Amino acid sequence: MKIALIAHDKKKDDMIALAIKYKDVLAEHELYATGTTGTLVMGETALKITRMKSGPLGGDQQIGSMVAEGKLDLIIFLRDPLTSQPHEPDVSALLRLCDVQSIPLATNVKSAEVMLKHLATTGAL
Ligand code: PGA
Repeated sequence: MKIALIAHDKKKDDMIALAIKYKDVLAEHELYATGTTGTLVMGETALKITRMKSGPLGGDQQIGSMVAEGKLDLIIFLRDPLTSQPHEPDVSALLRLCDVQSIPLATNVKSAEVMLKHLATTGAL
């Protein structure tokens, strides 16, 4: 499966912890991420990740484009709901496209864990 990882700045530590905890599951899939998230996760886990641009510079839109083309199967997007984001329109567009395409989307750690545990036991979603 093709999985995208995105984390807003205050959620990056959570994403790193999640990636470390589920490294073995994630390693079995094709991983994509926005720029900074991808760099940090790769640095901490040695997972292979294709990095897009940083989110505020268009990375969310690049991930959105992949969703629109049916090229992603799962998005883990740890959003910071308490901080205003300069690229909020891009964030909203990505969330909307996930619903348009019925792509599983986890926007917090517990949701992500439900999906990753399911993936670990069944190999699919
Ligand atoms: P980043 O982008 O991984 O490059 O920080 C994430 C975002 O803010 O959407």
